[in-house]
Order: sequence, then C-alpha cells, then structure tokens
Amino acid sequence: MPEPYSHCHACGESYYSYELTWPRVCRSHACNQVTYRRLDPVSVVLQPVRGDDGRLGILLGERAIAPRIGEWALPGGFVETTETAEEAGPREVVEETGLVASGTIFTRHTRNTQHGQLLIFVETTAELTMADVAGWTPSFECSGVKVAFEPEELAFPHHTNALAEWFERQEKKAELVHELTLIIGGEWFSDTVNGRHILDNYPGQHKTYRSNARIKAEKIADLFRRN
Ligand SMILES: [Zn+2]
Repeated sequence: MPEPYSHCHACGESYYSYELTWPRVCRSHACNQVTYRRLDPVSVVLQPVRGDDGRLGILLGERAIAPRIGEWALPGGFVETTETAEEAGPREVVEETGLVASGTIFTRHTRNTQHGQLLIFVETTAELTMADVAGWTPSFECSGVKVAFEPEELAFPHHTNALAEWFERQEKKAELVHELTLIIGGEWFSDTVNGRHILDNYPGQHKTYRSNARIKAEKIADLFRRN
C-alpha cells in the first residue's frame, strides 16, 4: 500500500520527491494535473450497538472507496463548512449505511494524522440493536457493515486506537459500576446516623437509612450506566 498522496490521481504516476509539496503539480508525461489537499476536519463516529447477548459493540463499515477499499473502518467523513463535527458524523452514518444514530452526539477526542488531518471522534449515547444494523442499506461509500465486540485492527491506525480505547473505557465503566453497586447494595455499608455508627440493612435496625454517600454513589452509578 503506497503512502497517501504519493501518486498522481490523474495519471497514476508516482510523484518525484521535488513534487511533494502542496498543491501537487504532476510533471509526469506533461500530465500537469494540480492536486489540492482537503484540510477540512473528518468526523469519525463511535456508534454503540447492543448485541443479542447483551454485549455492547461498535458499528463498522466496509470501505467501498479509496483509500483502503475492502477494509473495515469506523463510519465518518469530512465536516462540511455549514455543520459541526457532531452533525457531520451522524449524517455520514446515514449516507453510508442508512442507519440513524439518535441520542446525544458528543466529541470524545480529537487526533491528528501524520499527514496533518484533524480527526474528530464523536460518540452517540443511543445504542442501535442488531435488528437495526441488519436493516442497513449499502452505498457507494460502504459495501458492508458489522459490529466489533472486541478490539480489532481497522483500515486506519487512529480508528484502531479509538476502538481499543472505547473497549477499555467500557471495561473500566463496568468495573466502576460493579464497585458502586457493591457500595449501594452493600451489606457492609456503614454510615453515621444520629451519632451512632450503624450498618445499613442491619437486622437489628427498624429503619434503613440511606446515607448521603450512598445517594451520591447511586447517582454516579446511574451516570456511568447511561454514558
Ligand atoms: Zn499525473
């Protein structure tokens, strides 16, 4: 796989080293094709999909256009001048796959490629189901869809990293929710009420006290479940 921008897209000849400036002007066989570089940011979408077994995965598309035709990647595309990255991402998902990502769209992180392209990774809070995904429609940009339920190597290194980081976050969230659940439901949970140190749900108590710490823990757990 040649380096991006290493060949003239008009005549297919490789550029000479002295031609590797912007805009590129191809001198091969008097081609004279001038190539400008598009520097608009690219919005890349992390769309969660709930598997039939309850696991959460991420939507992938099979690329039908260059570069990396036939390889799997996160859906996305250029942010147009009239829209935000959070608007561009879902629009691209619809254009590429026909699938509608609802819920809140937020920017997860940004990365710069080695070629200076700004990638804005956006994530949606609303999950798709496997039935949703099965109802996708192909486009000239996308020839297949699938759901990744674990990290895998994608067409672009930043996509691979974003996918791996997403699964790491899911794991950390699950651990945290588990810890908080232990606190919330905890038989060992203790707090001070009326100056006495009591155990929640302690058989000897007539009342179950909900401590401030427990209420806070419930709120945090709820937040993590939903995000
Ligand atoms: Zn050329």
